Amino acid sequence: MTERLYYTDPYLREFDAHVAERTTYEGKPALTLDRTAFYPTSGGQPFDVGTLSGARVIDVVDTDDGRLLHVVDRLPDGDAVKGTIDWARRFDHMQQHTGQHVLSAAFDRLLGARTESFHLGADYSTIDLARDLGAADVARAEAEANRVVWDDRPVAIRFASADEAATLGLRKESKRGGTLRLIDVQDFDLSACGGTHVARTGAIGIIAVSATERFKGGLRVTFLCGGRALTGFRALRDVAAASVRALSVLPAELPAAIERLQAENKDARGQLKDLRLRLAGMTGESLIATAVDAAGVRLVTACLPDHDANTLKAVAQRIAQHRGHIAVLVGDPAAAPIVVARAEDVAADAGALLKQIVQRHGGKGGGRPELAQGGGLTAPAEVVLQSARDLLSVHE
Ligand SMILES: [Zn+2]
Repeated sequence: MTERLYYTDPYLREFDAHVAERTTYEGKPALTLDRTAFYPTSGGQPFDVGTLSGARVIDVVDTDDGRLLHVVDRLPDGDAVKGTIDWARRFDHMQQHTGQHVLSAAFDRLLGARTESFHLGADYSTIDLARDLGAADVARAEAEANRVVWDDRPVAIRFASADEAATLGLRKESKRGGTLRLIDVQDFDLSACGGTHVARTGAIGIIAVSATERFKGGLRVTFLCGGRALTGFRALRDVAAASVRALSVLPAELPAAIERLQAENKDARGQLKDLRLRLAGMTGESLIATAVDAAGVRLVTACLPDHDANTLKAVAQRIAQHRGHIAVLVGDPAAAPIVVARAEDVAADAGALLKQIVQRHGGKGGGRPELAQGGGLTAPAEVVLQSARDLLSVHE
């Protein structure tokens, strides 16, 4: 069995130990020690990294048979090793984990909202509460948790038998037997936990809830403690500063400024649509002069660059308002849309004409006798329009 030094001294950063076993874990070299300060992934807290006599520790695993495996990039020489923990990573985990105990206790004590699970992630941590809470209640628990942080209360590590622990009023009943390790936040929280914790609540620095969402009938609370809260504040500050610069408003005016921009944008889009339709009408009128005689109708064919399907349709429909006219319009390049529209008094079938055109030149489309549209033509616009003239028996 490995002596777990972090159980009694979570501030231990360096230690000497002897190799007990050399093995592999998922194809990588691994070893067990007679004693270690390396924390393995467990209880929601990720593993420590660091070095063992120069070899890099890349994972620490608590196996089902009770061994504590240090997975390394290479096996160190000799039986005596010197271990060094990556302290920045470990201390960050301690801030988040003790912060979690305090925050969970605040939700429990103030609101009777129990913590079902805890996850300490690479960027933020979450607790899942057994019931949903409103924003005001979340803010109350957050304020209470920070009060306890700023009280700078001692966080003690105690050991007790399972029977003894049952009488101490743990926040959450422990299902483990034997000796339990308890984390005691003075006069605020007592929990069975194998994790690493700061010695006083003041070292948590601050506990900041960054988001909440309903989850499985309860509430998932995302939070940042200590250094992560500062990192999160800096990120928000930079985003706010860039937004304030872009919009030339005060930070407090940002939401209103964005709403105003959205309203103005919607207005401008509406005006643009109206103007496009008016322009399409004028284009349609100007094309009437180019109409040629076909089989009993006046045929307008045109290639209109930069016109989308809707604009082409508006132009064609304007032409079709003129008695005896039929319009065949394509965008440019020819793979862009094609629209055929005819006036009410014209016998030719726009849908049938379009079908014949796409049969000749690829693409697809269809429609009614008075209006049809398609796209994906593979021939140049001029070839497509010549086909339309041929199909309607225009002799040039
Ligand atoms: Zn814990």
